[in-house]
Amino acid sequence: MNLKKILKPNFIKAGLKSLTANILKDYKTPIGVYLTITSRCNLNCKCCDFQKINQKKILEIPTENCIEYIRQMADAGVVKLNITGGEPLLHKGIDEIIKFAKSKKMFIALSTNATKISEHLDALKFVDVVMMSFDGSPKNHNYLRGADNFETLIKTMELLKKNNINFWTTTTLNKKNINDIEFVLSIAKKYNTYANFVLIQFFDKVIESNSLPDYQKVQQLELIPDDKDIRAAFEKLIKLKKDGEPIGSSFEFLNFMKSWDDYKILMSSKNYGIKCVAGKLYCHLFADEKLYACGHCIGAIDGIDIKKSGFINGFNDLQKIPNCQSCRVACDTENNLIYNLNLKSIFNWLSKM
Ligand code: SF4
Ligand code: SF4
Repeated sequence: MNLKKILKPNFIKAGLKSLTANILKDYKTPIGVYLTITSRCNLNCKCCDFQKINQKKILEIPTENCIEYIRQMADAGVVKLNITGGEPLLHKGIDEIIKFAKSKKMFIALSTNATKISEHLDALKFVDVVMMSFDGSPKNHNYLRGADNFETLIKTMELLKKNNINFWTTTTLNKKNINDIEFVLSIAKKYNTYANFVLIQFFDKVIESNSLPDYQKVQQLELIPDDKDIRAAFEKLIKLKKDGEPIGSSFEFLNFMKSWDDYKILMSSKNYGIKCVAGKLYCHLFADEKLYACGHCIGAIDGIDIKKSGFINGFNDLQKIPNCQSCRVACDTENNLIYNLNLKSIFNWLSKM
């Protein structure tokens, strides 16, 4: 654990704000932001519908607007920025955006499909963790993400290691790759990194501006595993993590996933014991320059035009999906655990820094 990286005044302040939010029901303040800077992508993965969104219009936040929003976020107390896309490294201002966010002392995570890393090595040195998609064996990874992508991914891992840039992998479990867990972990061990696991996501009806594919599509592609296989996969992950395998996902998240009632449902009004603080302590700025409480509000409820409202006013007016208490979405659940000050979960992540 690198204490120097963690014990920073703005992170300590964020911890105190989380504590206050856990005590005072009506207290809200932004600590983290998911920033989808572009819907543009150079891949066409089977588990994603960004290409469908792009057929209508590519959505992208212009660099100068993005920098202004990050400035406003920093002023409002945001310390954690998750930059995502589309493929964020296709945004022509990405290097400048990363460097600006770091100048505001933010913790930066960047999710990428690993195809453009070599062009941005200098800026990526300012990113705290690069999250790369890794969907299993070469055959399954290439089936899900496109021919030859596996080879690119491995070359990229070599490059990041050589340049001392911290990276983790994220595997979207589905019917094709649910038996590839051990293979993914063998690669994590080889490159001395951590593997995170999430479950394939989809909506049960098409929501055009949301990047998740609809249920029919993933069903036609035979990507939805049986409930019993999903539960067995999460049980296996818990056991492997107990055995010391390099699994990033927290025990709390893995146990939560094991206990999820019906995997065909993405969001639930049931309280699984992890309070959702989307719109209270974190939010999502999408590539349409609208602010949402979480990524699943996109297309489901109206976003707030941040160009008109500014960041903090927009944040203060955020609405959540009515009656939504829990979702089986890894990033939101892990976030909610941290903001709920779940100490085991916090230690799980800090120990990997
Ligand atoms: S999953 Fe990521 S890399 Fe694949 S098409 Fe969607 S945005 Fe692009
Ligand atoms: S539980 Fe919270 S983060 Fe998850 S979909 Fe519902 S509102 Fe969004």
